[in-house]
Amino acid sequence: MKADQLLEKSKQYMWLPFTQMSDYEQDPLIIESGEGVRVTDIYGKTYLDGNSSLWLNVHGHQKKELDEAIQKQLQLIAHSTLLGAANVPSILLAEKLIELVPEGLTRVFYSDSGATSVEIAVKMAYQYWQNKGVSQKMKFVTLSNGYHGDTVGTMSVGSIELYHKVYTSLLFDALVIPFPAVYRHPSNDEQVVRDESLHKLRLLFEERHEEIAGMVLEPMIQGAGGMNTMPPGYLKGVEELCKEFNVLLIVDEVATGFGRTGKMFAVEHESIQPDIMTVAKGLTGGYLPVAATFTTEEIYNAFYGKHEEMKTFFHGHSYTGNQLGCAVALANLEIFEKEQLVQQASDKAELLTELLADLKELPHVGDVRQCGLMVGIEIVKDRYTKESFSFERRIAYRSTLKMRELGLLTRPLGDVIVLMPPLATTAEQLVEMVAIVKEGIRLVI
Ligand code: PLP
Repeated sequence: MKADQLLEKSKQYMWLPFTQMSDYEQDPLIIESGEGVRVTDIYGKTYLDGNSSLWLNVHGHQKKELDEAIQKQLQLIAHSTLLGAANVPSILLAEKLIELVPEGLTRVFYSDSGATSVEIAVKMAYQYWQNKGVSQKMKFVTLSNGYHGDTVGTMSVGSIELYHKVYTSLLFDALVIPFPAVYRHPSNDEQVVRDESLHKLRLLFEERHEEIAGMVLEPMIQGAGGMNTMPPGYLKGVEELCKEFNVLLIVDEVATGFGRTGKMFAVEHESIQPDIMTVAKGLTGGYLPVAATFTTEEIYNAFYGKHEEMKTFFHGHSYTGNQLGCAVALANLEIFEKEQLVQQASDKAELLTELLADLKELPHVGDVRQCGLMVGIEIVKDRYTKESFSFERRIAYRSTLKMRELGLLTRPLGDVIVLMPPLATTAEQLVEMVAIVKEGIRLVI
């Protein structure tokens, strides 16, 4: 089919996620192929994948070992249900994952997206207390600006006004603690901001811990909330408070997991041992939708018993533990080891910091926040007052469109431009990406 016809059909039949379709109609894009860290559209124009195809691509596109893992698994079976039955790759993957995740996490519950992995975490924490007979522990604490997915449960523990406000009466109430964001805090001091937020959490726990089942957060850096980095010691402080007040700590590693922050998991930056941890995106190297929720033997045991005791976790999806997905995830983790990818990501993150250093010289770049290979560039109208451009001007969005013209794909989060390259991006490609980011911003403002 001709490219122009495809374009028309996409406008006629499709409804794209997180997309105002009038924007798409004005600036459509249809990707046809990809190789390495580049993708190509139906007109043959090639782009650097600066967004890792939504934060999940690890090794680039068409990674030989991953393609082969799927082909090999296809010769056996594509899918069989995990309800009441296991399958071979899901077992092997579970064993491998348990070796990698923080100590104390011993069980894997599969699902198929980041949102479902967090939805499961919330339900698991809730039912854990019910099964233990501590039935008043039903509330969840979350951080302002958090994002954990778009299902009703995960929106309830999320708090990004732009995405969640319209659904307010559909959601359950979570208790929200201010995220320790340094950039707009009057003190501009990491320790002050950290201690202030931890103090608020302590006060909340002192007053209400008996009704709080768990606290949900993104470790070290909030993604969709605008790439907000946590001050050092904050995550550790939260862990200590959760332990002191008997609140389950649920860590959402959907965006940060698998080397993205320069460690295999972001919790390793502060040696945290969560009660529940969720992963998705990078788990399959960006190939297929597999997610997982990890938990402790203590939590697992609270669900274990005779059927008539009614402790079973009644949750599962049709594609849970899909064999093709688990097989490619296993191959992905083998490449992590073989290519020492976490170390590579950490080294590349340092290079990225250097490359980004002069970005702040651009008159409208207010803040550059980075954790490993996760970068957010906040555009402001006035660097001194930190005032934003009006919503209608959509400076960050327009900058990313300009970057697209220049050969780099990425997406904005409000006023924040995201750069999240695949872990396999080379030094030269990072240089190329950052140069386009700078040029894209410069040309729009
Ligand atoms: N949690 C975090 C921290 C995320 O960044 C995302 C997606 O960006 C999700 C959950 C939801 O993942 P998914 O889009 O796979 O449902």
